[in-house]
Amino acid sequence: MSLDDLVVRCNIKMGESVHNEAPDGTPIDPKLMRIQRTTNPRPKVPQKELVFGKVFSDHMLEIDWDYKNVRKEGGWHPPVISAYHPLSLSPAASVLHYALECFEGMKAYKDVCGRLRLFRPELNMQRLNSSLARLYMPSVDPDAFIECIKELVRQDRDWVPEGIGYSIYLRPTAISTYPFLGVGATKEIKLFCIMSPVGPYYPEGFNPIKLYADTLNVRAWPGGVGNTKVGGNYGPTIRPQMEATRLGCAQVLWLGEDHTVTEVGAMNVFFFWVNEQGEKELITAPLCRGDVLPGVTRRSILELAGKWREFKVTERAVGMKEVVKAKNEGRLLEAFGAGTAVVVCPIRAILYEEEDVVVIKEGDDVGPLTKRMWDALTDIQYGKFDHPWSVLID
Ligand SMILES: *Cc1c(COP(=O)(O)O)cnc(C)c1O
Repeated sequence: MSLDDLVVRCNIKMGESVHNEAPDGTPIDPKLMRIQRTTNPRPKVPQKELVFGKVFSDHMLEIDWDYKNVRKEGGWHPPVISAYHPLSLSPAASVLHYALECFEGMKAYKDVCGRLRLFRPELNMQRLNSSLARLYMPSVDPDAFIECIKELVRQDRDWVPEGIGYSIYLRPTAISTYPFLGVGATKEIKLFCIMSPVGPYYPEGFNPIKLYADTLNVRAWPGGVGNTKVGGNYGPTIRPQMEATRLGCAQVLWLGEDHTVTEVGAMNVFFFWVNEQGEKELITAPLCRGDVLPGVTRRSILELAGKWREFKVTERAVGMKEVVKAKNEGRLLEAFGAGTAVVVCPIRAILYEEEDVVVIKEGDDVGPLTKRMWDALTDIQYGKFDHPWSVLID
């Protein structure tokens, strides 16, 4: 059986779903970059005290774009790296009114030799371009923007914590700074990147979570924008998340049509089970309906599992009814969320229609596939061996 047979694919690939018609103008040119180092470096936070997304490194990257006269002088301005600073923008800026905003999430890692590495950054660039296109914003040249990001990481090399589980989280973001209250195409954009040093998600080993399968609120739908990282997708998830917390659950399990499983919180979700045909199968929601974010971690897991050829690997919509049935018949082996921040996050139970679907019984250990996936991904990310997915910065 070929890899293609093992990995059932949908016909829409990441970054290909939307054609970008917005005018780009002058492309990003890393050679024109200006670097103004801070004169006021801040003290580093001790590694043990790092909390996700609260501490930021000394520098940030900014690249402005404007439309004026695209053919002549519009387009991307020279990239600037300078001290981390507040932004100044008009209260009419359309990001503040119509959420003309999108972002990425990626990490830089320090390997055992102290070298800096990125993980599949070209996939983040592809996805950024599909988010930008959805907002009728210009695209970025992937190689040029990766070059700028690499320089930012180099400038703040001392801010990248060492050790397995430690990394610096990168947040490339594009906002419309155009001061215009009409709902229309933006003519001014700021693309920036900030960085936040982060510690291990599981300092004391895996902490399997319980999910609340929300049957009331919907995160994304066919024809919507759930397949892009636009800011507007995230604000409205906070209230359902609070409801999940009230019910003793750590994350929301987002359901689609007919209570099919789509994602968990801001992670993709996988089930490992024995299917109705008696075959072991790793299964995740497909991208073709457009209600699932094309995660870099998701894709990497599908590709790794496909290469192992030890069980079936499938992208297909799975209904909660099927999950409950598999559980009742003792066929549900493991379940986990997947994303850059956590790598993989084991699922202990799902609260669905007032019943607990238990995946890991009290006192039982996290499943072997979940652990193996974590090891396989982190080995590549931290450069334990050479692998084309790990990109050296120097
Ligand atoms: C970012 C994100 C993911 C995970 O994507 P990765 O590229 O693996 O980090 C999954 N779901 C949602 C909704 C997201 O925003």
